[in-house]
Amino acid sequence: MSGARGIPLPHPTPLSRPHWDGCREGHLLVQRCGACRRHVFVPQPLCPTCQSADLAWVECSGTGSVYSFTVVHRPQRPEFDVPYVVAIVELDEGAFLLTNLVDCPPDAIEIGMRVEVTFRKMSEDITLPYFRPITSAA
Ligand code: ZN
Repeated sequence: MSGARGIPLPHPTPLSRPHWDGCREGHLLVQRCGACRRHVFVPQPLCPTCQSADLAWVECSGTGSVYSFTVVHRPQRPEFDVPYVVAIVELDEGAFLLTNLVDCPPDAIEIGMRVEVTFRKMSEDITLPYFRPITSAA
C-alpha cells in the first residue's frame, strides 16, 4: 500500500462524519452506547445490540488484534498496489473495523496478532485508519 494513490475514498455522510473528522485529526472515534455500554462500528443510528438511540462518539485506544484477514493479489481496481492485506481488526474496546494491514509482509500476519492504528492522509478531507503490528514490547 505504499502507493495507494487514486484509490476510491469514502464519502462521509452526516452519520459517519464524526469518524472521518476524527481520523483527519489523528483520533480513532467510534460510537458507544449509553444504555448497554458497547462500542459500535460502523456508525449506526441505533445500537445494534439494544436498539438504544443513546450513541455518543468516543475515542478508542487505537489498539486491537487481527480477527481475520485475506491477502489480495488481484485488485478490483488498478489503483491498488498488490499484494495488500484486508483485515478485520477487533479493537480492544470490542468493535470491529474492516481495514488494511500495512508495514508488515503478508506472510508474517497471524490471527490474534497485536496491531495499532496508523493514519494515512489520502486527501484534504479523508485520512484512512490502517493498522500495523505493534513492534514494541512495552
Ligand atoms: Zn446498546
